[in-house]
Amino acid sequence: MRRRPVARPAAGAGMEELLTPGLDRVQHSDMDQMNPTFDAPAAAPTAMKAYSSADAIACLRSAGVPVTHQRIEIARVLFSAPVHLSADQIWASVREHSPDVSRATVYNTLRLFSEKHLVRELFVDPQRIVYDSTTSPHFHLYNMDTGEVRDLADDELRILGTPRLPEGTVLQEIDVIVRVRNRHD
Ligand SMILES: [Zn+2]
Repeated sequence: MRRRPVARPAAGAGMEELLTPGLDRVQHSDMDQMNPTFDAPAAAPTAMKAYSSADAIACLRSAGVPVTHQRIEIARVLFSAPVHLSADQIWASVREHSPDVSRATVYNTLRLFSEKHLVRELFVDPQRIVYDSTTSPHFHLYNMDTGEVRDLADDELRILGTPRLPEGTVLQEIDVIVRVRNRHD
């Protein structure tokens, strides 16, 4: 299972900078590597606070990602609240504040963030990768008609145990995407 290398920056840093009215990113505790159960997805926090540039810088540094203006902007789009976004959706959001950021920069940064386990890549269909800002283990529901991706709550789907692993292997990740289509009746 993937583990976040370090904790997110502590709450309270950079409170003065209120950019988005959305909920702040929810903290997840790291799970024991061998625990086959899964945390419930992010619950809505009661306190509202902004995810500032200072938070983004601390997050990048803690993950060992060299800080650049573009990476700060991309981190803010991803980590201001739990999101599932395509690279082009992220690019569009970043350009609202920083029109100079190129598509290639966004794609390269997302690859880097993924390597550093800051985001998780979801291969929802062969043509579409969605970037999930919540990296703790959880499952997804994907609407193939609307493209919407949402987290499944812990009580919606459970995996009972883990399969016997081949000799010489360790469990890396269990990935479940429940795919639905809209009814037309
Ligand atoms: Zn998710």
